[in-house]
Amino acid sequence: MNASKWFLMILIISLLKQPQISNGAFEISKQFLEFAKKAEVFEWVVGIRRKIHQNPELGYQEFETSKIIREELNKLGILYKHPVAVTGVVGFVGSGEPPFVALRADMDALSLQEMVEWKHKSKVPGKMHACGHDSHVAMLLGAAKILKHHSHLLKGTVVLVFQPAEEGGGGAKVVIDSGSLENVKAIFGLHVSPEDPLGQVFSRSGTLMAGSGVFEAVIAGKGGHAAIPQHSIDPILAASSVVVSLQHLVSREADPLDSQVVTVAKFQGGGAFNVIPDSVTIGGTFRAFSKETFMQLKQRIEEVIVGQASVHRCNATVEFASKDKPFFPATINDAGLHKFFQKVAGSVLGLDNVKEVSPLTAAEDFSFYQEVIPGYFYFIGMKNEKTEKPMSLHSPFFQLNEDVLPYGAAMQASLAATYLLENQSQSQTS
Ligand SMILES: [Zn+2]
Ligand SMILES: [Zn+2]
Repeated sequence: MNASKWFLMILIISLLKQPQISNGAFEISKQFLEFAKKAEVFEWVVGIRRKIHQNPELGYQEFETSKIIREELNKLGILYKHPVAVTGVVGFVGSGEPPFVALRADMDALSLQEMVEWKHKSKVPGKMHACGHDSHVAMLLGAAKILKHHSHLLKGTVVLVFQPAEEGGGGAKVVIDSGSLENVKAIFGLHVSPEDPLGQVFSRSGTLMAGSGVFEAVIAGKGGHAAIPQHSIDPILAASSVVVSLQHLVSREADPLDSQVVTVAKFQGGGAFNVIPDSVTIGGTFRAFSKETFMQLKQRIEEVIVGQASVHRCNATVEFASKDKPFFPATINDAGLHKFFQKVAGSVLGLDNVKEVSPLTAAEDFSFYQEVIPGYFYFIGMKNEKTEKPMSLHSPFFQLNEDVLPYGAAMQASLAATYLLENQSQSQTS
C-alpha cells in the first residue's frame, strides 16, 4: 500500500472513531429551539417564571416553588420523586431505561429587597430572585415540555433535577446523598449571565469556577476603660493585625500563577468610643481552584488568626464550614463533555455563539455533582440591548431578560436528547 492509501485509511478510521452529531441530532436541536420559541410555549414558560419571581423562597424553604413544579409536571404527565432534599423534585422523562442523563435547575432566592418596580415584583419583603434561579426553574420546565413532546426521540431517560438551596446551603450535596442520581452518566447545569449577549453560551473545559469556603473567628481579649489601655487586652488591635496578616497569604505565600482569594468581609466589635471590648468577631471567604491549594489556605488561615491573636495576648477560636454552609468544591468541567457541549450548542445557536471563558472566582454548588458524575456547567447570555447597563446578579436592581428562556430550555433539552442519542449509538456499535 502506498503512502496516500495509508493516509486515506487513517483518515477514514479517525472519522469513524469520532463521535459524530448526526443530521438527526442537528435537526433535533433546531426543532427544539423552534418549539421553545412558539408563542404559546414562550408565554407558558414566562408565566411560570413570573409566578415564582413573585413568591421567592430561601434555601430549603422552597415549598410553594416545589408545588408549582409538581403541578406543571403533573400536567405534562411526567413522573417524579418528591421530596428530595426537603423541597427538591426529581422528574423522569423518556424510555425509563438507561442511559440516564440529568439536567439541573436551582430553586432558591436571596435575602434581598427587590428595588425594581414592575408588575411581577417580589411580594415577599426582604426576599428576591436576584440570581435568576426563578428562570432556571422555568427553563428546566420548558426543557421538560420539549422533551415530553418529543419523547419518541429519546433513547434513554432524562432526569430533571429541581434542586433547593444553591446559595450557600449546598443543596446539591443533599440531592446526591439522597441517592436519586445513582445511575446518572452525565449532568448539565446552566446559569444566566446578565453581561453577555442573548443567544450566546460561555464555558470552558476543566476548572470553570473556584472552590469556596467561609471562616469566622472570635478574638477574645479583656475589655476595659479606653483611657487606661494597660489594664485591658485589646482585641481590636489584635483583630486588625490578623486582617493585615491574612492578606500576606495571597501576596507572599501563594503561587502567583495559582489564583487564590482571602477576603475578610466581616469585622464586628466594640460599641462605644471609650470602652475597649472583650472580643471581636471577624469572618470572610476564601477561594482556590484546586483542592490541595484550598486545604493549604484553610490551614494557614487558622494558623495566622491564632498566631497573630496570641502575639497580642488574645485567644482566638476559628470556625470553618458548618452544616448550613459547607465548602463548595471547584467547578470542574469534564473534558469529553466540553467537546460534546460545543457541538450541541453549535447546532442550537450557531458555532459563532459558543464562546470560551476564563475561570471565575465565583463558586457554584453544581461542583458537588461533578465530584461524583461527569458534569458540565455553562453560562447563557441574556444581555438586554434596550437596557443601558445590565445589573449584576445579586443586585436588588437585577432584571431578567425573559427572552433568554427559550434559549435555555432548548439548550438543556438538546444536550440531554443528543447525549442519549450518542450514548445509545455507542452502546449499539460497541
Ligand atoms: Zn447567586
Ligand atoms: Zn445563582
